[in-house]
Amino acid sequence: MSTVAQPVPPTLECGRDLLALVEQISEGLPPADPEHQARCSFCQEAIARLKAAFEALRDLAGQAVRTPRGLSARVLEQLRRERHSVLIGAGVGGRDTVSEVIVSQIARRAALGVEAVQHVSVVSESRQDGGVDLDVRVTADLGPSLPDLALRLRDRVSSRIRELVGVEVTRIDVTVDDVTLDEDTAADTRDDGT
Ligand SMILES: [Zn+2]
Repeated sequence: MSTVAQPVPPTLECGRDLLALVEQISEGLPPADPEHQARCSFCQEAIARLKAAFEALRDLAGQAVRTPRGLSARVLEQLRRERHSVLIGAGVGGRDTVSEVIVSQIARRAALGVEAVQHVSVVSESRQDGGVDLDVRVTADLGPSLPDLALRLRDRVSSRIRELVGVEVTRIDVTVDDVTLDEDTAADTRDDGT
C-alpha cells in the first residue's frame, strides 16, 4: 500500500523540470521545449553538466546500456534533494562537487550492466567524510544466487563511482525488490488464440 507523500518535481530556476532534462540527456530524448532551451542559461548550464557526466560514463561503459522503463519514484525523491552535492576527490585549487543525482545515475547504469539485473533504482546520500552511501534496489532474473548478485552489484557500482567521480562508496544497501522468471516463458505469454 502506498502511503508515499507526493514528491515535488525539482525545477530549475527557470521553472523547467529537472527530471525531464535528466531523462533528455541520459536517454537521448528530444527536448520538450527546444526554443526555451536554446536561449535559457539555466537549462543550458544544467544540460552541459549532465552531458559531461553522462559522456564520461558512456566512454567508460563501453557498451550500450539497456533502456530503462523511466525513472522511478525513488529517483524522483533523489532529485528532490538535488542540492546535495558529493565532493569529488580530485579537486585541485577549489572544491569540485558532483550532484547526488549524477552519482545515482552512474550507480544505476553500472548496476544495469550486472548480469541478470533488469531494473534498478538508486538513492545516494553524501556523507560528511566525503564518501557516499547508496541504496540500490533491483529487479533481477531468478537464477544467480542473490547473495552473489548483491556482491557483484557492490563491486561494480563502487568501482565505477570511484573511477568516474573519485568518490569512495562507504556503504551500499542492496535490496532485491522482485525477481523475474525465465524471460521467454514468464513475460506475457498469453495465447494469441489464432
Ligand atoms: Zn530553462
